Amino acid sequence: MRALIYHGPRDIRCDEIDDPSPTDTDSVVVEVEATAICGSDLHNYHGDMGEACGYGIGHEAVGTIVEKGSGVRRLSVGDRVIVPGIVGCGGCAPCLAGAVNSCEIGVSAVFGNNMGLGGAQAEALAVPRADFALRTIPDDISTDQAVLLTDILPTGYYGAQRAEIEPGQDVAVIGAGPVGIMAIMSAQVLGAARVFALDSVAERLAVAEGIGAIPCNVADGGVDAVRSATAGIGPHAVIEAVGSDEAIQTAIGLARPGGVVSVVGANFNLDFSFPMAIAMARSLTFRIGICPIPQTWPALVPLVASGSLAPEFVFTHRFGLSDGARAYELFDGRTDGVMKVMLDPRS
Ligand SMILES: [Zn+2]
Ligand SMILES: [Zn+2]
Repeated sequence: MRALIYHGPRDIRCDEIDDPSPTDTDSVVVEVEATAICGSDLHNYHGDMGEACGYGIGHEAVGTIVEKGSGVRRLSVGDRVIVPGIVGCGGCAPCLAGAVNSCEIGVSAVFGNNMGLGGAQAEALAVPRADFALRTIPDDISTDQAVLLTDILPTGYYGAQRAEIEPGQDVAVIGAGPVGIMAIMSAQVLGAARVFALDSVAERLAVAEGIGAIPCNVADGGVDAVRSATAGIGPHAVIEAVGSDEAIQTAIGLARPGGVVSVVGANFNLDFSFPMAIAMARSLTFRIGICPIPQTWPALVPLVASGSLAPEFVFTHRFGLSDGARAYELFDGRTDGVMKVMLDPRS
């Protein structure tokens, strides 16, 4: 089959590799119908995830089960499924509650990161502990919506949930990329009165404005604009959806006294310089984490199915899997108004 393989910094190729097969009796093989490129794939693309090369990349896929192990009971060949970006052990208490990010057995892993799971940007993907991990796609969820439910909508929602937004509050979202847009929509669903969107890319701010956020260009006094719009004290909650040190520092500096900073942008810096004095003086709550994707589905699937959340407009570009290198280059360069890129494994 064809799959996108990481060969080194800025070197992604569509290679011919062996077809996956069920890795054990509890696993299935999913023929991928649609797969997207995620902002966190760019950490791999930039070479930030270590020296290893030659592994399949991507963790956002939906498709159809074409093969299953003898121990898989709940699912059948032919089922169309959402593959969550992260899979836990499926047996410990947190996993059974959907909190796969807190797996007590310590085996939770993300697809496409050389962690023992294949890459989702491929024609097919083996999924372990399938009965536990996968969810069949409801009839009223489109393919594009299902792909967003594999990672970025849950991640944006998780950021908003952990920001403890109460109806009527002001919220700032740092980063108006795909996850930031999902966080803005989630904050609105959770009752935010005003959502300030901070970014430096004009097209992204325009998209945020289009869904009802207040655009604030950080390259042009955007942070101060949020402060002055909130009587100088800052928003109740700040959701950080970039992951850079600078963006996280900005989030901490922006939240009002007693406020909450909720980080979902990926940051792996062991030496992050935390402004403890600000956090302590203002009694801030700081949260950071990887989203327990399945745990958000009971809330998000009905919201999407009913049209209360309609996030699928974020897909701006579509490529065949064979054009993966070009797709990564475009997405990384943030050119051509790109927001979210879908890949078709069949071409
Ligand atoms: Zn993702
Ligand atoms: Zn577990």
